[in-house]
Amino acid sequence: QGFKDYNLSEDIIRALDSLGYQKPTEVQSRVIPFALEKKDMTVKSHTGSGKTAAYGIPICEMVEWEENRPQALILTPTRELADQVKQDIMNIGRYKRIKATAIYGKQPFARQKVQLTHKNHVVVGTPGRIMDHIEKQTIDLEQVRFLVIDEADEMLSMGFIEQVEKIIRDLPKDRMTMLFSATLPKDVENLCHRYMNHPLDIEL
Ligand code: AMP
Repeated sequence: QGFKDYNLSEDIIRALDSLGYQKPTEVQSRVIPFALEKKDMTVKSHTGSGKTAAYGIPICEMVEWEENRPQALILTPTRELADQVKQDIMNIGRYKRIKATAIYGKQPFARQKVQLTHKNHVVVGTPGRIMDHIEKQTIDLEQVRFLVIDEADEMLSMGFIEQVEKIIRDLPKDRMTMLFSATLPKDVENLCHRYMNHPLDIEL
């Protein structure tokens, strides 16, 4: 099975070609068809499996270029991962001219505030700093239709889970939620049950 079987737009197919992605990895072939139908899901998967593109491809496909406010929020436990995900999204979305920004701590708040007034389709960030922007009303999440919680178990072990919950409660209810985690501890499962709508369980 190839990416051409997924009904993706030409801009996305061309980007995958240019990245040298010839066929979907296992996690991608399990996730992409359901994500394109906007199903909530919990995906047990590891770094290196191609999980970023598993959510990045459907998100890049589904965001509307014309909308100026963020449509997708991706939460990551670390700054390094936030930067990596932002880069991957921009690569997959390069021919659709998708704009993404990474928002995390230990960076000037004022500069992020300005960045967040620019056109961004996708915001990738760590929970603490995203919460700061929500509290100071310097981020507009009213148009968010896609939420990804990446490396949820790491988020839990780093003590971010409460902040993640607070952020989720601030988002529009009419959205798709995808959670990725290498392991599924009880607190992560609880999060899924509380904030997802009949999630599919995908285990590799
Ligand atoms: P990840 O698990 O998201 O960190 O991805 C691991 C690596 O696999 C990254 O360097 C990706 O660029 C690469 N990758 C993701 N999807 C594919 C694919 N379908 N074909 C080849 N490489 C891929």
